[in-house]
Amino acid sequence: MNAQSVPNHSGAGTAQLRTDFAHLIDGELVSGKEWFDVVNPATGTAFARAPLLSRAQLDRAVMAARRAFPAWRATAVAERRAAIGRMAQILTDNAAALAELLTLEQGKPLGQSRDEISRAATQSVGMADIVIADELLEDNAQRRIELRHFPLGVVGIITPWNAPINLAAGPLVAALYTGNTVVLKPSPYTPLCTLKIAALLREVFPPGVLNVVAGPDELGEWMTAHPGIDKISFTGSVQTGKQVMASCAGTLKRFTLELGGNDAAIVLDDVDPRAVAPKLFFAAFVNSGQVCMAIKRIYAHESIYEELCTALAEEATKARLGSGLEAGVQLGPIQNKEQYDKVIGILNDTTAQGARILAGGRVPDGPGYFFPPTVVADIDEHSRLVQEEQFGPIVPVLKFADEEDALRRANDTRFGLSGSVWSADPERAARLAARLEVGTAWINQHRTTSATVPFGGAKESGMGRQYGALGLKGYMEPRVISVLKG
Ligand code: NAD
Repeated sequence: MNAQSVPNHSGAGTAQLRTDFAHLIDGELVSGKEWFDVVNPATGTAFARAPLLSRAQLDRAVMAARRAFPAWRATAVAERRAAIGRMAQILTDNAAALAELLTLEQGKPLGQSRDEISRAATQSVGMADIVIADELLEDNAQRRIELRHFPLGVVGIITPWNAPINLAAGPLVAALYTGNTVVLKPSPYTPLCTLKIAALLREVFPPGVLNVVAGPDELGEWMTAHPGIDKISFTGSVQTGKQVMASCAGTLKRFTLELGGNDAAIVLDDVDPRAVAPKLFFAAFVNSGQVCMAIKRIYAHESIYEELCTALAEEATKARLGSGLEAGVQLGPIQNKEQYDKVIGILNDTTAQGARILAGGRVPDGPGYFFPPTVVADIDEHSRLVQEEQFGPIVPVLKFADEEDALRRANDTRFGLSGSVWSADPERAARLAARLEVGTAWINQHRTTSATVPFGGAKESGMGRQYGALGLKGYMEPRVISVLKG
């Protein structure tokens, strides 16, 4: 999402909006001189205001992080692990209130918000269990050479709006556990839950170690250019990722880029389409399709094509769409108006092309950014829905006759986040999946991640990895220590 308009408020006429949010800078909760509105996507109206960081306040946060770095770097790994354990416990203890706030600002069903908070907690603990060991590269009569890893300094973390807590927790824990200090900026669409968590974590980390600040896209630009920040961990769109990379070049910052995807699922001729349809549906439509690694294209063998289309359409018709706070709702609204308009544009293009709409396709009137789960068949491969990252609840099902052709079409994209192959024969599927040009290839599953398994994109879906030892090393500088003996 590009620049969003950020209204400046002096405070007048906003008594009905929640304002109990503050930046965390140098261990203190800091209010804003200016504020911006946060909209509940289920109603389309603002329900809260977040403080808007000034440039001087960003400098303060970066300076605080720099000051805190030497002492935090010097703490024992066990101490940092314990702090992350306390952070995870705080997330768990406050899960109910945090989940409700997350649903209010993000839109996802309450149960999924709870899952996001608890996943952030368990992944955090899992990451802080990983040991980054020194490596002995050479040890002989002449020389002893070791490779060690050291923290980089101040890490700027920039997150998107689709899973703000989970996507903050990964880089946050990676940075803090490896001995860096942090300035974290959530998306202006969903800053509130992140700010609340920061306030709860005040007692866990020493002042300056964790700073959390809110503001528009421009704040992200300031961070990527800031000479006091050593690394940027960015999660967001490909387009913005390229801008971040260009801006980091000015100060030769390190960066990890976790960007968009257009994941293909290839469904082979030997699967039971009825058995696989609920799994494919969930992996495509959870969080209303607003997941980087959601299935965004389904390639089905011609022998099962119609039956799979029918079964997916039935899943879509059964799924309950509504406010995330209502019991029994499976799909919430699209998170923001810009994304909602983009998905409507893709739907209009899809119908104009004459594709077959099997379910959904009619956007309801009324408030909120609701869009029904929409399954599309017989669509042109070159249409927007197939080529772009739709990031919404509309998914195309495409037919193939030959596996090699399916693989070629799945790989025929600049995206390369992840993908999956579905078959009654996992070995057969694995052979095909290994040739997907992606960071993660799944077999008979999609969207399965863990704290110890590196995740990230090939091609334009990113650079570097999060999670696992590989992910943690992205927050560290390798240093060779070479001793000449005798
Ligand atoms: P976005 O790129 O618009 O914004 C992401 C963040 O970057 C926000 O905090 C925003 O304020 C900030 N930002 C915007 N312009 C900036 C700039 N020029 N410099 C620095 N920061 C800037 O993305 P979004 O719309 O919030 O998120 C959706 C996208 O994120 C999708 O493409 C999705 O696939 C991707 N995503 C990727 C992953 C992954 O792990 N690969 C995970 C989740 C989402």
